[in-house]
Amino acid sequence: MSAENETNDTIAAISTPPGAGGIGVIRMSGPHALDVLRQIFKPHDPACAFRSHQLYYGHILAPGISTSPKNIDEVLAVYMRAPKTYTREDVVEIHGHGNFLVLQSILELLLQYPVRLAEPGEFTKRAFLNGRIDLTRAEAVIDVLTARTRKGMEMAQAQLSGHLFEQVDAIRQDLVAMRAVVEVAIDFPDEDVEIIDDADLREQIEVQVRTPLAALLRRADQGRIFREGISVVIAGLPNVGKSSLLNTLLQEERALVTAIPGTTRDTIEEYIDVEGVPVRIIDTAGIRDNAEEVEELGIRRARQQMEQADLVLFMVDLSAGISAADRQLFAALCHKPVILVANKMDLRPEEAPLLQEFEASSLARVVISAKRQQGISELKQAIFKAVIGRKEQWEEEGCAPNLRHKNALIRAYTASDRVLNGLKMKTTCDLLAIDLQECLTELDAIVGVTTTEDILDLIFQQFCLGK
Ligand code: GDP
Repeated sequence: MSAENETNDTIAAISTPPGAGGIGVIRMSGPHALDVLRQIFKPHDPACAFRSHQLYYGHILAPGISTSPKNIDEVLAVYMRAPKTYTREDVVEIHGHGNFLVLQSILELLLQYPVRLAEPGEFTKRAFLNGRIDLTRAEAVIDVLTARTRKGMEMAQAQLSGHLFEQVDAIRQDLVAMRAVVEVAIDFPDEDVEIIDDADLREQIEVQVRTPLAALLRRADQGRIFREGISVVIAGLPNVGKSSLLNTLLQEERALVTAIPGTTRDTIEEYIDVEGVPVRIIDTAGIRDNAEEVEELGIRRARQQMEQADLVLFMVDLSAGISAADRQLFAALCHKPVILVANKMDLRPEEAPLLQEFEASSLARVVISAKRQQGISELKQAIFKAVIGRKEQWEEEGCAPNLRHKNALIRAYTASDRVLNGLKMKTTCDLLAIDLQECLTELDAIVGVTTTEDILDLIFQQFCLGK
């Protein structure tokens, strides 16, 4: 994407997903938007003045060369004059019937004018380049579009309304003020009065920079979990009740988000919502079909699944007792975060003797009956606790830096280490200024002040077409 076509040309795309729907929306942004609309849209009211932000009823007509214009669709169209638009440019939206062929025909018509097809995320990129939103808000748009749980959506909306920006910006402003003081000291090296009060600056770095940076970093880890979800494998020998547990979890699940077909015929994967965390549950099904080599195969397959999982539910059958094969399987997975799930409590209410051998370990354990749906909410709480830790800590603090932000936050924190170290070693003001600036530059990159073109491309490529 070259810099000149980013601002000067007019782009268009279908903004609604492919497939049949009540309506489908085509969006155009750029200087020719209104002019093109006038040429292809025949308003029902001939006196239509295309007032900004007003919806007009009419038809999209393709001009015929030797024939009369051909009707493509009956639509509502709106022209929105810059700068009060999504991109801060002139924007036109055409609301047609939600059939991909209809929308494609309208789009093809638009492309016959000085309009080109938008790249993924280009509308949002323009909103960013034209200064309507900072980069954290632009990234929040992707999160809003892809959130899998209500909690993930709330977080994305908080970021979209500027929570993360405000917190990062507050640190930036403080750093700018600190750097200004250091620069004065550089300009007046011979002043008798010490311009920089070391203790004061150290205190400011701790309180105004490092404490909030550390808080943001903590939230980045939680944010990743809410944004991307976690994968959980149900591992255990045949017949311990793995499939029954998967079914029970799915039946319970009112906010089931998506079902993903298993990657192999031996596994079943589904998303469930565990207190706002999208959890992909993988059952190593199919193992039971190979009665001969079942234990060895079971361990091998479970191991492959487990290596990729964030958490393993290690399931045992309370009615059968713990066998050598159970122990072997457990030994293969004990390097991962594990919850021991003791199933079939209905068949053996006295579970204590069986679980004794795990007493010594700090292994989290839950006793359930997958079949009778007992202990399931305790299991969900255990899953949540295993990945999130203390819930209250999350609830107070709503925003969630993503991986890009996290890496920049770490670099900013490291630069602040150097500032503190420099103060301790009584280093020169020039060096202090450099480290303060490095810290600031990292935060500038988070909000998009100094983000390079290739990073921007990486970010906006994640968007779908038309956004
Ligand atoms: P998998 O091979 O580990 O997937 O085990 P399944 O889910 O197919 O269950 C094996 C057998 O145990 C089936 O007959 C289930 O009905 C039974 N089962 C599963 N969970 C329970 C439970 O909690 N209580 C009882 N009594 N039977 C269970």
